Amino acid sequence: MIQEAIRPETILAREFNTLVDEPMEEYTSFKIGGRADLLALPKNKIELTNLIQRAWELDIPVTLVGKGTNLLISDRGIRGLVVVTKLLKSKLEIIGTDADTTTIIVDAGERLSKVCQFAINNSLSGLEFAAGIPGTIGGAIKMNAGTQSGDMSAIIQSIEVLDENTFEINKIEKTLLDFSYRHLNLSGIIVSAAITLKKEDQKKIEEIFKYNLAKRNANQPVSFASAGCFFKNPDIGKSAGELIEKSGLKGVSVNDALVSHKHANFIVNTGNASCEDVLQLKQQIQEKVFAKFNVFLETEVRIEGE
Ligand SMILES: Cc1cc2nc3c(=O)[nH]c(=O)nc-3n(C[C@H](O)[C@H](O)[C@H](O)COP(=O)(O)OP(=O)(O)OC[C@H]3O[C@@H](n4cnc5c(N)ncnc54)[C@H](O)[C@@H]3O)c2cc1C
Repeated sequence: MIQEAIRPETILAREFNTLVDEPMEEYTSFKIGGRADLLALPKNKIELTNLIQRAWELDIPVTLVGKGTNLLISDRGIRGLVVVTKLLKSKLEIIGTDADTTTIIVDAGERLSKVCQFAINNSLSGLEFAAGIPGTIGGAIKMNAGTQSGDMSAIIQSIEVLDENTFEINKIEKTLLDFSYRHLNLSGIIVSAAITLKKEDQKKIEEIFKYNLAKRNANQPVSFASAGCFFKNPDIGKSAGELIEKSGLKGVSVNDALVSHKHANFIVNTGNASCEDVLQLKQQIQEKVFAKFNVFLETEVRIEGE
């Protein structure tokens, strides 16, 4: 009798606590995405390392997701293993302090908003730009998340990264990190970060946080499902939102995917938008903006899946 080979995914699912055929729409703020073959939510570095090491040994592709607030997942879903890092967290700790600064250590799955609150509570300045940015610390570092008033690259002291070749966790100092606009050039998995913040008057910090949050709530469609700004701002002194709005695209839709009336650089899912709907709308936007301004808008949102 000829025995059928067991799929690597089946072996991994037997050895580790994984979910099978998991709908990705539940793991993204866009509420879009087909199913992942396997999905795991490791709770600590050991669980994460063992899982990733085994997946790589079995040649199973691994896709990393934090809180999925910058992701558009395809309707056909993701083959292989999705590792969701949002449970990878431990107590926030102060690891060093001098006259002017304090350094804290944060696990990759911790919410950025919780780190912001910790900074306020401890009178530490440097994260005010991040008021209202959703997602995890790992995702924020990988995306070099930020606003006009700052980004993650300014406050990261070092990160710990699970190396995909050696399966070891290595510390990388900030001088060796290749940050650029909404991007960190890195292939491993961020497991924790040391963040250095400045000591500052608590009232002053709190006021800036409140101001930034109010501005965001006034200008962005925060109550709709989205992945934040869809396109990167081009290098021409005009924002992507301005170019999209001036191309007459506010309110344009493909089924339930809509260019927000409130902020033209947000594509929102008003109900049951598919990835295909969003991609069609994306293309319309890129073509119209290019025809009018001769500028090609690059996506800031990461598109993942089959
Ligand atoms: C309403 C709204 C407002 C937003 N406003 C802003 C804003 O002002 N500025 C801004 O920059 N962004 C903004 N965003 C986008 C998003 O919140 C940020 O990019 C955020 O930092 C992503 O974090 P995440 O955990 O959700 O990452 P995910 O979306 O889960 O992942 C993003 C990328 O990071 C990778 N990644 C995740 N975790 C790790 C890890 N541990 N190690 C290595 N790679 C990892 C993923 O593979 C993926 O490629 C907004 C989004 C929404 C929905």
